[in-house]
This record gives sequence, C-alpha cells and structure tokens, in this order.
Amino acid sequence: MATARVVPFTAGDGRALNLIHVQGRRTPERGPVLLVHGAGVRANIFRPPVALSFVDALLDAGHDVWLENWRASIDLPLCHWTLDQAALHDHPAAVARVLAETGARSLKAVIHCQGSTSFTMSAAAGLLPQVEAIVSNAVSLHPLVCNASRLKSALAVPLVGLVTDRLDPQWGEGRGDGADRWAARGLRKLVELTHRECDNGVCRFSSFTYGTGFPVLWRHENLNTATHDWLRDEFAAVPMSFFRQMARCIAAGHLLRHEALPGLPADYAAAPPRTEARFTFVAGRRNDCFQWQGQRASFEWFDHHQPGRHAFELFDDYGHLDVFLGQHAARDTYPVMLAALAAPATSPATEGARP
Ligand SMILES: [Zn+2]
Repeated sequence: MATARVVPFTAGDGRALNLIHVQGRRTPERGPVLLVHGAGVRANIFRPPVALSFVDALLDAGHDVWLENWRASIDLPLCHWTLDQAALHDHPAAVARVLAETGARSLKAVIHCQGSTSFTMSAAAGLLPQVEAIVSNAVSLHPLVCNASRLKSALAVPLVGLVTDRLDPQWGEGRGDGADRWAARGLRKLVELTHRECDNGVCRFSSFTYGTGFPVLWRHENLNTATHDWLRDEFAAVPMSFFRQMARCIAAGHLLRHEALPGLPADYAAAPPRTEARFTFVAGRRNDCFQWQGQRASFEWFDHHQPGRHAFELFDDYGHLDVFLGQHAARDTYPVMLAALAAPATSPATEGARP
C-alpha cells in the first residue's frame, strides 16, 4: 500500500502550491518522475480506483513519484490563472523543489492536457533545464479541435464569460460555488437537454465544458463503474481566464502568450525550443477534447528543430483521460509511457502507432 506525503512549495509569484510524494513499499532505484495534472482537476486524478493505477505502475517500475498540484488544482483556492502564470511561476518551482527534496540533478515528467501545454511552454522557454525526458498526453504546443469545438470556443467563450467567471462541472450535480446562481442553473439545464449519455452530472457537464462528444474526456466503455462514480468528486471549477487564452491558441493553431510576463515568448512556436528534454508525445486516436493530430504536429515541430530526439505514439481505442484512467490502460498505454521514461537520454526516437 502506497503512502502519500504533502510537500508544500511556493510558486514564483508567492502562491502556495504543493507536491504529493507517493511512496510504495520498496525504495525507488530510479530518479524522480513528476506528474502534472490538467485543468479543473487535481493531483489525485492519476490515482483512480483501478486495479493498477499509473502511479502504482511507476512505483512498481522503481520510480520516485511526485504529483504536482499547480495553480489549476481544485485542491487549491480558485484563482483566475493563465497558462503563462503556470509556465513561469509553478512548474520551475515544482521541479526545483523535487530536486531539492531528492538530491537528484534531473527529473522526468509525465504531463497531461493543460498541465502539458503549460509545462511545454515552460520547457520551450528554457525554464526547465533539469528536465531530461517528458511524456506529454493529449495536447502540447498545438491545440487542435474539431470544427464544432472551434466554433464553440470562438462563440461561447465570450458569451459565457459575460455571465460567469468560471465553469464548474460540479454544477452538473447541483453542487459547487455559485451552483444556485441563474447562470449555473441555466447551463445545467442546457447540459441536461443536450447530454443524455449517462446519469453522472459531472461527467455530462465536463463533456459540455471541454469539447464536442458524448462523453468528451473518455470513452465510457474504457472506464470501470467505480472510476465513473469516482470522477464525480474529481472535477471542479476552471476560470474563464483559461478558456479565453485557449480560445486564442485554438484560433492560432498553436500556443500564444496571454499575459506579457517576463521570460516568456509571445509566440511559443516562433523560435526553436530552449530545452534538451526528450519528448514522447502520446494521444488517444478517439480524443474528442483535443484532436490527436495536434500531438503529431507538436512532434513534427520538435523533430524539425531537434531531429531524431523525440517520439510520437498513438493509442487507437483511447480518448483523452482514459489514457490514464482506463480499466485496461495498464495493458494498453502504461507500457508505452514507462518505456519512454526508461529510455536512456541518448536513445534514438521513433515514430509509431500502438493499439
Ligand atoms: Zn458518464
């Protein structure tokens, strides 16, 4: 049975964040691996009720496992964050803290969705020189969505932003801050009318929030019943500040700075990446939140600048988060990600497809 220890750390702008250090029964013989969650969830998203979670698999493989609760975490007070704030203030401080705690000189990272976009920003800006290998799921430098989601992003974000400063999947169950306000009640009604795919209000509201699909963030058949129930408590508020930035990035086809913060480029694809990290870009072919072709575009962009170093892997029967939460992910996706973490730093990269 693994134990979890909370290690507080302070972001570059003074915000209080934390790391969760998960320890198994054996002493890790490999170095630290940092796991970075997406928007509106928390570090716990990597520990669903499945027979073998990705965290368990990392521990079994001898890794020293650290989960980062960055400013988007629902374990922390809601703030009106942007990807730029996380790239500049959160991830460099998290990496520094893990290295200080472990005495290691470098670490590896597994990054998901908006943890991935913001961590990739940070790496590309040269702020993470101690990170030697990165496994990125779902989206990184090139957020690509279907036409319906593009339209939704362009039209709905400004409109919704007029009536609320956040979207909260808890509203789908009539819970969460502001659930009794008319805007939240109206959106809940809209979700009830348009999403009939299951009886889990958080699952349905998350689909409404994050893309175009029924559901969006996973394939129902990939989740066991316990995980589908567990998700009710794992999704909460995301500020409109994030959706505004992502709408601009989707329109541009790649990540753009939303706030003029020092040390960050205005356009993340305009100059070669200032990182030596070896990226393995992974994606579910059936992702209805971000299209897998965006991950291939990011692989091609990195490969253009650093030929032969990076890799791209596709999971045919997977969507967005079921890459980590799926009841058969231990069989289908973990081996690819574990192999990427185990590869020596100089290993030649390959491009391929996995089932
Ligand atoms: Zn559902």
